[in-house]
Amino acid sequence: MSRDQYTFADPTKLYSGIDPTAQYQEGAGLDADLEEKADLGETSYRGLGRLVGRKALITGGDSGIGGATAIAFAREGADVAIGYLPEEEEDAQRIKGLITDAGQKAVLLPGDLKDAAYCTELVAQAVEQLGGLDILVNNAGKQQSVEALADVSDEQFDETYKTNVYAMFRVTKAALPHLQPGSTIINTSSIQAYEPSETLVDYASTKAAINNFSKGLAQQLAPQGIRVNVVAPGPIWTPLQTAGGQPPEDLPAFGEQTPLGRPGQPAELAPAYVFLASAESSYVIGATLHVNGGMPTP
Ligand code: NAD
Ligand code: MG
Repeated sequence: MSRDQYTFADPTKLYSGIDPTAQYQEGAGLDADLEEKADLGETSYRGLGRLVGRKALITGGDSGIGGATAIAFAREGADVAIGYLPEEEEDAQRIKGLITDAGQKAVLLPGDLKDAAYCTELVAQAVEQLGGLDILVNNAGKQQSVEALADVSDEQFDETYKTNVYAMFRVTKAALPHLQPGSTIINTSSIQAYEPSETLVDYASTKAAINNFSKGLAQQLAPQGIRVNVVAPGPIWTPLQTAGGQPPEDLPAFGEQTPLGRPGQPAELAPAYVFLASAESSYVIGATLHVNGGMPTP
């Protein structure tokens, strides 16, 4: 039998075949164009029926962590709608194929989350085409590394907050009227919320905001039976990093600072989202699940 996420292995040796290389991608970047391919669990994620009948919307579900989560959700029995930028159609089509291969419905909803009207339309379309909504994963994000604050443009600051914070607020607000008790919202923070890099001051501060927003909202929504939680990834090999998230020359050493000594793969994040989306986590509310190779967090 080939390896799946339940196969025991030495975590320091896992993925020794994937070695990040220096690369720069324009725009949002594509999984399809990663010179060193990431593992989204295409050949390894094994579903056990943990999300049968659920209906999920994942922003940024075309690639990286969101793509791996989309594959996992489908293999656990959920129908999945994904949001993504129109320029990412190639990646989105691939994920759609993997969702339908799992026997589930896939809904593709391209658009720009910086646009408030798209945020509400994304939810409306997901609800209409899935026939409801029980799981919302706010995962889309923008990260651009800039050495000096003086060189962070007003436009970049605005776009990073619009994509990472405003869109989470707008999409969540639009989704709430559709979420029944038992539904879950999962937001994506980062190790950057706790250990901000000096070159990511705008991005890192959005990730702290996401954590705080989630913990407040979790208390507000718990009495309605809606659970809000957070996943905080460490350094994960995705197009976010090759598309300006890190200076390209830093990529070969990406993730080496973690106690495991390597970057994580999107496939290693998906089980965290599955756990928080499933009924197994019924008493887990306002939590941040760290998936970061061992970096200490408060
Ligand atoms: P990724 O590039 O594969 O995913 C990010 C997605 O965000 C893109 O696919 C894109 O579809 C979406 N997106 C960006 N701007 C958008 C916009 N204006 N409108 C619509 N969609 C937009 O990279 P990833 O690393 O899987 O990122 C997923 C999440 O994980 C992000 O929130 C990121 O901040 C977070 N994260 C990543 C890492 C890492 O090391 N890769 C670490 C911590 C947190
Ligand atoms: Mg993408």
